[in-house]
Amino acid sequence: MTVTRFAPSPTGRLHVGNIRTALHNWLWARKQDGRFLLRIDDTDAERSEERFVEAIRADLAWLGLEPDGEVRQSQRFDLYEARFTELVAAGRLYPAYESAQELDLKRKIQLGRGLPPVYDRAALALNDADRAKLEGEGVRPHWRFRLDHDAPIEWDDLIRGAQRFDPATMSDPVVRRADGSWLYMLPSAIDDIDMGVTHVVRGEDHVSNTALQLQMFAAMGAPPPAFAHEALLIGAEGKLSKRLGSLGVDHFREAGIEPQAVRALLARIGTSDPVEPIAYAAPLVAGFDFARFGRAPARFDEGELAQVNARILHQLAYESVADRLPKGMGAVEWEAVRPNLSTVADAAEWWQVIEGPIAATPAAEDADYLRIAARVAGEIDWAGDPWHALTSALKAETGRKGRTLFLPLRRALTGLDHGPDMAALLPLIGRERASARLGAMARN
Ligand code: GLU
Repeated sequence: MTVTRFAPSPTGRLHVGNIRTALHNWLWARKQDGRFLLRIDDTDAERSEERFVEAIRADLAWLGLEPDGEVRQSQRFDLYEARFTELVAAGRLYPAYESAQELDLKRKIQLGRGLPPVYDRAALALNDADRAKLEGEGVRPHWRFRLDHDAPIEWDDLIRGAQRFDPATMSDPVVRRADGSWLYMLPSAIDDIDMGVTHVVRGEDHVSNTALQLQMFAAMGAPPPAFAHEALLIGAEGKLSKRLGSLGVDHFREAGIEPQAVRALLARIGTSDPVEPIAYAAPLVAGFDFARFGRAPARFDEGELAQVNARILHQLAYESVADRLPKGMGAVEWEAVRPNLSTVADAAEWWQVIEGPIAATPAAEDADYLRIAARVAGEIDWAGDPWHALTSALKAETGRKGRTLFLPLRRALTGLDHGPDMAALLPLIGRERASARLGAMARN
């Protein structure tokens, strides 16, 4: 069974970049009838905050990306400890005693000599006596994973294709600090094995981590998951933008953006498929395929999001928005005004137009025409299609047509030059209010 995981660190709110990663993990799991798990990467107790864990859950719920299960790294230290002991016994983890300053100096010297700043493995040369001496002096070791230099590290990335790294060009990664705390790399590999993760979908900033983690999977005797590294997100202006890091669910919600629009856009940008206003999950799930993803950065444009949002709103059923509409507004009213909305909140303006009072500006040149209209409005059959009844009677009586026939009526009835189809709106305004509005204009 396919298992994906979304693994945020609860050190802040989700932003559009990690929302996109969550979405792709969710889409892939749904497409494969698999499981989508949330893993809270909270090994860093200093920087992790409970309010962010709660916000991550709430944001995923708003987006409709509810996980099939949740795992917290902070509750799994026993497992990490057990694997750690095994890897130490197998000689794949070794203690290293250099201070941050010493390591920094080593790197500077290497760079100065034109060499890559790869860790020199000095700690591997220490014998028991050397280590005992250092520990006697109170130096506590951090721990490194010993890379196997014998063969290149290779995998077939679902997005990037064939990948190849030479382990000899990489430093043995530090997996545990001197104070016993964990860095991200090893716990993540341990969890991916333990959680049965089959696909790791994440940003391309993790590509070199994957090379290291592949050796960790091998060292723990586990087959690795498949990897899909997606190109990063850039802003509409074509740059890695700081702003993207602050755009999250709160911002979208305040801007009147529907979760469906966020999903529709983020499912498709950076792929060879067009962005389409797909309101429901099924077509996005069915069309999701790593093979469609490109290597170029995906461009996130808030203007495009607003457009997708409007086009999605125009399809949304009354039931899915009812609790956010003005009190009293029903399905018929929603369907009449929906084509003119950019956000659900805009519905209130049209509800005001229906219910009144409206502020219409009288136009002297139309007073006679509107006087006739007020009378005709009293004569037509309101049960059927009053707008067509009204306009065809007026056309016959006054000889007006096109704009001069329709616009004065729209202005008198709604106070506006534009808006929803009058055929849908007029029955909602109703005979009484319509006659009063026409009559009021006619008197001027
Ligand atoms: N917590 C890591 C991050 O947010 C997870 C990376 C991964 O998906 O493995 O970068």
